[in-house]
Amino acid sequence: MEPFTLQKESLHLSRWESVWPELTAGFSTRHHGISAGEYASLNCGLHVGDRAEDVIENRRRLVESNGFLFSSWTCADQVHGNCVVQVTEREAGAGREALEDTITGTDGLVTDCRNIFLAAFYADCVPLFFYAPAHHVIGVAHAGWKGTAANIAHNMVGEMKRIWGISASEIYAAIGPSIGPCCYEVNDVVADKIKDILGEKAQSVLQPVKTDKYMLNLQETNRILLLEAGISNSRIELSQLCTSCRTDLFFSHRKEAGKTGRMTAFIALKEG
Ligand SMILES: [Zn+2]
Repeated sequence: MEPFTLQKESLHLSRWESVWPELTAGFSTRHHGISAGEYASLNCGLHVGDRAEDVIENRRRLVESNGFLFSSWTCADQVHGNCVVQVTEREAGAGREALEDTITGTDGLVTDCRNIFLAAFYADCVPLFFYAPAHHVIGVAHAGWKGTAANIAHNMVGEMKRIWGISASEIYAAIGPSIGPCCYEVNDVVADKIKDILGEKAQSVLQPVKTDKYMLNLQETNRILLLEAGISNSRIELSQLCTSCRTDLFFSHRKEAGKTGRMTAFIALKEG
């Protein structure tokens, strides 16, 4: 069953939210915003050429529709790397209105603070969600092929252990909507990086289609890396939604030739 279900204006990790009522976690669609043209309408990326005031209003609508204040919106400048940063009260609200005060050079955010709306941006890349309920620690990561090959999944688990002493067996993870193996053709440069990180298991995520071309299953690649990091299979949710097939619902960088908006993966803990 698809773990991400449409509730009001966003997709939500409905089972997580029903098991843990303190949690809000989901993924925005391209609808219910005010941006125009190729960014229509709920573009949440400030870095893609859209009008900043429209993006800020879109972010405000998304965070408020989830019951949080705009001041709690906290995001990073994503660089397709594997760096993970702990968000404390000091970083709360970073990057919500301008690129200048964002958390720099980071693709993974973790926090144990309530009322911090962790946000990360996507148009085909894989959103990874993390929750350790016994510790009230949440996380979100942006995993494109580069971040995946640099094993940001492993680094998220590693930072949760280093900072809070959380064992991987205590962590739940979810892999959100992204470009699927149906649509994600890659060249041998990308395929070689995936082979480097997965070894023999790469066969299960790379389908050869023609000379030096493969269809890559980036979600399954991340699922394998989460398993290797120690998270149990029964604690991993996997979306079946392809952002490139479903441009009725999502922005797709590949399908829309680079000129498009960004969805937001969000996770936050409500006031106790
Ligand atoms: Zn597809």
